[in-house]
Amino acid sequence: HPGMVIVGAGEAGARAAFALREQGWTGLVTLIGEEIHAPYERPPLSKAALVDEAHPTPRYIVGQERFAAEGVTHIADRAVTTIDRQMRHVGLNDGSTIAYDRLLLATGATPRRLPIPGADHAGCVTLRRFEDALHLRERFRPGARIAIIGGGFIGLELAASACQKGAEVTIIEALPRLLSRGVPAEIAGAVQERHRAAGVTILCGDGIAAIEDHGAGPAVRLASGKRIEADLAVLGVGAVPNTSLAQSAGLAVDNGIAVDDRLRTSDETIHAAGDCCSFPLPIYGGRRVRLESWRNAQEQGTHAAKAMLGSSEAFDAVPWFWSDQYDLSLQVAGLVDEGRQSVRRDGADGSFILFHLDDDARLVAASGIGPGNAIARDIRLAEMLIARRARPDAAALSDPQTRL
Ligand code: FAD
Repeated sequence: HPGMVIVGAGEAGARAAFALREQGWTGLVTLIGEEIHAPYERPPLSKAALVDEAHPTPRYIVGQERFAAEGVTHIADRAVTTIDRQMRHVGLNDGSTIAYDRLLLATGATPRRLPIPGADHAGCVTLRRFEDALHLRERFRPGARIAIIGGGFIGLELAASACQKGAEVTIIEALPRLLSRGVPAEIAGAVQERHRAAGVTILCGDGIAAIEDHGAGPAVRLASGKRIEADLAVLGVGAVPNTSLAQSAGLAVDNGIAVDDRLRTSDETIHAAGDCCSFPLPIYGGRRVRLESWRNAQEQGTHAAKAMLGSSEAFDAVPWFWSDQYDLSLQVAGLVDEGRQSVRRDGADGSFILFHLDDDARLVAASGIGPGNAIARDIRLAEMLIARRARPDAAALSDPQTRL
């Protein structure tokens, strides 16, 4: 009895499995994942899992009892290695095959490695899985010298966590500033200030030439000739989508498994969702993007389930991302690079929001930073305005007394 088969038991895959049941599908649902755990959340891996006193356990996406109760079969510790599109079955690395009516690829992404000498040094690690976080947690100790390569979200969250554990942290970023992908300079500046205040050393505009060995750990040699000796180096230089399975099955790949607005791949019986796929965004005229964000994975998992059951509704969400560092929370709704000018609204406790407007004065994105939940409500409201393609008055946006 073929049914719904999902490859990848992460955020998108798990959400899709249970959404199929919520949508009334009563046939088979099989969720196949190569990790040993039941589906768990990744955002805590760079945050609470590294700093909390209590020994961490994976934070599961759904209660374990729901698998049996809702008849979702989770096959753990097995990878799907082939897709036979004619016969409609997938092949697993234990030699078994599973037939499908509809297939969802939710394979996620893998941390990028740098093509430089010494990049395979044992003291140069990455973070994606729960086990990676356990390893880092062990090494983030008072006085430990931690070199973070890459000033993006993961690198900065790791820096904040290592610093909170009393480590001596150096962030190395090849580009002239932190967070140059998708975050405006004003917000990156506020982030940088907070890290400096915490005692983190930040080196921007200097690329990595090699990872060497100083006898007791890795030494990061920079393009400028500078050499940073560390006990551990962590690479946070982005992630590459896991597309090899799709590629060898002959599916279209374009910076991720290419899907249409119903999340269908070039084979209409196969869908894709989450970090692994690139998709068109209707709010930006169908601009094709790939997002690595928790909520996108959730929403696409749910949407893919409906699409697998025949819905023709287009996926039309506003991208949204958050990052927590120290006491600060940063959020971005929409794509900042769609904006041509920005308007600033200052809030309490040093928090602020930038509203990004395009040439037609349409609100296309909002980004902000502040302690705790300071910006959460206004970013949420801005997101609704972005979704409605609104043209709010710039003077009203900048006035903290005017309610959004
Ligand atoms: P994943 O969650 O990566 O799941 C894919 C799964 O598929 C993996 O378990 C993989 O092993 C498995 N798989 C791959 N290929 C196969 C195969 N052939 N056979 C079987 N299984 C396979 N987002 C935010 O918005 N805010 C944050 O603060 C934030 N923090 C993060 C912190 C960390 C450390 C990480 C790693 C990510 C963070 N994210 C954050 C991003 C967010 O977690 C991801 O966007 C989300 O997990 C993507 O979900 P996914 O299901 O697409 O992929």
